[in-house]
Amino acid sequence: MKAIKAFLFDMDGTLYDSMPNHASSWYQMVCEHGIECTPEEFYLYEGATGKFTVNMLIQRKYGRDATDREVTDFYERKAEIFRSKPRPSVMPGASRLVESVAALPWKPATILVTGSAQGSLLDRLDEDFPGRFPVERRVTALNVKRGKPFPDPFLQGAALAGAEPHECVVIENAPLGVEAGHRAGCFTVAVATGPIPLETLKAAGADLVFPSMPECAARLPEMLIELCSD
Ligand code: CA
Repeated sequence: MKAIKAFLFDMDGTLYDSMPNHASSWYQMVCEHGIECTPEEFYLYEGATGKFTVNMLIQRKYGRDATDREVTDFYERKAEIFRSKPRPSVMPGASRLVESVAALPWKPATILVTGSAQGSLLDRLDEDFPGRFPVERRVTALNVKRGKPFPDPFLQGAALAGAEPHECVVIENAPLGVEAGHRAGCFTVAVATGPIPLETLKAAGADLVFPSMPECAARLPEMLIELCSD
């Protein structure tokens, strides 16, 4: 890696401590439909589109694909439960990480790459990370067809920055997101902000893993300066 032109940031579980709310919202909605599931499993599907997850749940119960109507109804109900929960906080260490990578000597771009379409978080980005993720620097579920673990969202993020994928660093917390970043050809950094162990993130293709966001914020910028000067 000789030059880093952009940092591609995942949102849920990376910029915001929102995964406990997402997982419990999925769990409650799926239980309402009488489909067997555990709250923990939703951490494994994190990063995938709502359609992917609903399809898998319908397959589990009925052995067929979900209809468009089911996808919409399930996702809307899940989003409704999510909105009723307490406002998730910015992930501790996330602001420091975003500001410190944006301040690297070669001034890389910061891009948002999320599988989410949750307006209640997207609408907060300008306030919580001023100037770092304006609307024109976002890839969301609203403008990507194939979500993580396909590489498409990160390829689109690199293109938004005018960079090649190998000139981008992905910051992720979920196995499917790490896989997507790795498959896109980006240098992929995983941060274990939830119950997923470091080994699982490494196995998904992470180039570097950190046990927490504050640790990532404290160490990553210097590690990247060293890597780039080799
Ligand atoms: Ca995530």
